[in-house]
Amino acid sequence: MECISIFDMLKIGVGPSSSHTLGPWRAAQQWIQELKTANVYNEVKTVTVDLYGSLSLTGKGHATDLAAILGLAGYDPVTIPIDRISSEIDTIQKTHILCFNGEKDLVFDPKTNVIFHRDFLDFHPNGITFNALLSNGEKIASTFYSIGGGFVVKDEPKQDTTKEENFKTFPFPIQKATELLEYCATQNKKISEIVLENERSIRSDEEINDGIAAVWKVMLESMYTGCHTEGTLPGGLNVRRRAYDSHQKLIGNTPYNNPTEWIAAIRDTEVKFRQILKWVSCFALSVNEVNASLGRVVTAPTNGSAGVIPAVMMYYMVIENHDANFDDVKQFMLVAGEIGSLFKKGATISAAMGGCQAEIGVSSAMAAGALTELMGGAPEQVLMASEIAMEHHLGLTCDPIGGLVQIPCIERNAMGAIKAINACEMALDTDAKNAKVPLDKVINTMWETAKDMNTKYKETSEGGLAINVGMSDC
Ligand code: SF4
Repeated sequence: MECISIFDMLKIGVGPSSSHTLGPWRAAQQWIQELKTANVYNEVKTVTVDLYGSLSLTGKGHATDLAAILGLAGYDPVTIPIDRISSEIDTIQKTHILCFNGEKDLVFDPKTNVIFHRDFLDFHPNGITFNALLSNGEKIASTFYSIGGGFVVKDEPKQDTTKEENFKTFPFPIQKATELLEYCATQNKKISEIVLENERSIRSDEEINDGIAAVWKVMLESMYTGCHTEGTLPGGLNVRRRAYDSHQKLIGNTPYNNPTEWIAAIRDTEVKFRQILKWVSCFALSVNEVNASLGRVVTAPTNGSAGVIPAVMMYYMVIENHDANFDDVKQFMLVAGEIGSLFKKGATISAAMGGCQAEIGVSSAMAAGALTELMGGAPEQVLMASEIAMEHHLGLTCDPIGGLVQIPCIERNAMGAIKAINACEMALDTDAKNAKVPLDKVINTMWETAKDMNTKYKETSEGGLAINVGMSDC
């Protein structure tokens, strides 16, 4: 049984994509460790990267090549200064020199050393192979698969290289929503309390609190940055950033100097009914505009859907409960992470496997459940809210124009957040005993829908909006 930590579902990283940016980046780092373990790292003379399937078809727009290069150059997605990314890539493109793992210079031309293949590898649509020529003339290669949400595996699903998986069995091992509910009933605990006990079996309370605080800090800063950055997004679609204008109209002249004061300032504005939708949309848009410009966001459960959870958390803080504090954030993230892990175990969080239902649908389900617990819902209502949110994303395809994580992705986060809030309200108004569709059934339905979905709607930009609205239309 997989034991997935909430920190596997909520990872700090760099945009625009968890499967196409964070995953390949992590794969490059893991390959370097493989070389060291095999005692051939010092013998590497040249490296090349092969991208397959979806990683190739939407790799340019999703910055897969850049992510792999930055991983090979020894940078970490959590700590790399965002303003360093473009200058580092520029330097490699101009000099054709890559400082391998930040330690030794190799000749490397991104145009020829990263090869985009149209074909798919058998195991998973997101394949990436790293090749090295050693000083003795030997050639070695290693293939990884980016299976969504920044998770990376070799060629066996159970060999997931995320360290929390396979770590040890949680005190409350959970594969299905029904098991989670059973624990809540027998232990007389909320979902967040069960999840917290599981987290405590692998890290200290201090580490849990610090980890969640770090996640929320990045989420808040990504909203703040997005709301205060004007201009056009990179990539050629000429998408104008909308969060800035929307925020200007909403915040008015209320003063503040930093993200914490900003929360207080929003609480001080008199938010009218119509403005609630605008604020939530603004929060979600802001994160995904930051994501689209290779900024720092939290994968939740993916980068393309990174705006939903912060937007709904912020909704709770500035609309529902002005006294909300870190305890609320912690409770929210514990529930959201667990709901996300149920989808990863029972279906997929990879758009290359399941389309956008696996990204925005899952993030909306995570946020809906988490909000419902904060609003006082029973565990059954929490899972009902998640079920409702996913039920109305079933079949949602992935068809990003130009392979960029912009259209429809950015707006879709706003829609996912609004649906999450609505799903929460419906669940709170319902006796969950009358629920007709259990969460496990909707997870299974999503997986079956994913398997039936045509490949052109699975992060390949070969169908849908991606072909009906081309780059030239923008
Ligand atoms: S359409 Fe959805 S799944 Fe596809 S890249 Fe955009 S946000 Fe991700």
